[in-house]
Amino acid sequence: MSDKKMAFNTKTIHGGQEPDKAYGSVMPPIYQTSTYAQSTPGGHRGYEYSRSGNPTRHALEMSLASIENGSFGLAFGSGLAAIDAVMKLLSPGDEVISTNDLYGGSYRLFTRIFEGFGIKFHFVGMQDAGAVEALVNENTKLIWVETPTNPMMNVIDVSAMVAIARKHKLLLAVDNTFATPYLQQPLDMGADIVMHSATKYLGGHSDVVMGALVVNDKDLADRLFFIQNASGAVPGPMDSFLVLRGIKTLHVRMQRHCENGAAVARFLRQHPKVGKVYWPGFEDHPNHEVAKAQMKDFGGMISFIPKGGEFRDAIAIVEALKVFTLAESLGGVESLAGHPASMTHASIPKTEREKSGVVDALVRLSVGIEDVEDLIADLDSALGAF
Ligand SMILES: *Cc1c(COP(=O)(O)O)cnc(C)c1O
Repeated sequence: MSDKKMAFNTKTIHGGQEPDKAYGSVMPPIYQTSTYAQSTPGGHRGYEYSRSGNPTRHALEMSLASIENGSFGLAFGSGLAAIDAVMKLLSPGDEVISTNDLYGGSYRLFTRIFEGFGIKFHFVGMQDAGAVEALVNENTKLIWVETPTNPMMNVIDVSAMVAIARKHKLLLAVDNTFATPYLQQPLDMGADIVMHSATKYLGGHSDVVMGALVVNDKDLADRLFFIQNASGAVPGPMDSFLVLRGIKTLHVRMQRHCENGAAVARFLRQHPKVGKVYWPGFEDHPNHEVAKAQMKDFGGMISFIPKGGEFRDAIAIVEALKVFTLAESLGGVESLAGHPASMTHASIPKTEREKSGVVDALVRLSVGIEDVEDLIADLDSALGAF
């Protein structure tokens, strides 16, 4: 069956995959090798050095392309290494427009590394397409979208961003880490580049750090493959195997993340000790209609503020949780809780952070796939801690 005809769940398991040619192994072997024997100089069988290519990584890259409905997949040593490769498409003097509610590590990479190389970044509330277009000038080359945003769960209208990018001939990249292709497929909406921290939902088991890019355009793919090989931030074969294995259950995990996320969001919202709850599934979420139109469901990421909005209450809650683990990261099978202001978003200056709502009392949850009664009981008891 050709890949293009497969439905999503089938693609997560079979997309771009065929049994190994040597012995028919159903999973690709972990080709734990740096180099490959040649019969004569240049006489190799498709692989010469594992920075340039490795069969296990290649199997993963084919799967990544398939699940995002793209033509080319590229795996990197981390999500940030994948973003770094995209930024290396640019030259000094170029400008980028991105959201003001951005993953802290992306913000740090943009402002502390690439601004030093002469690239200018604009951060704006991307829910307002007019505000984005107002920043476009002759130097603008790239729009960098992250949706839903981390940790405020704003939803950006990808089609509106695509329209601006097309009109002004800009590249449009979407960080699809939070939604995953189970919930939304940005290339189908007209994006040029999809990026993932595969560390999160794609890997899904909190056992690997990895990044990914998927594109359709051959020229763009060639430029990115060149950067991947020239800069060398590639993942190893063992990690490639683990993420490939993770992707095979992406759809069932995501379905449960969404179900549990909805139950936890509704529980928090009616709790007397909880103030604001941020989750795009609520009908009164400011971007709910956009979320409904571009996403299949609303995901398992939720942020909330304890009633009263005190920093010390947020800390008391995250310390009291027992089933939720207090940890960085998200998207694994286990539920995690985080305190963005001191953890994931500590690299963003306080004044910048608070402009987008990341206040000191904000708590972020990555709702896992445990029995939801246990998650709710854990939150209920932790909310009693202040
Ligand atoms: C984690 C994350 C990244 C960075 O990925 P790493 O694998 O940690 O380098 C980028 N974007 C988002 C939305 C993330 O959650």
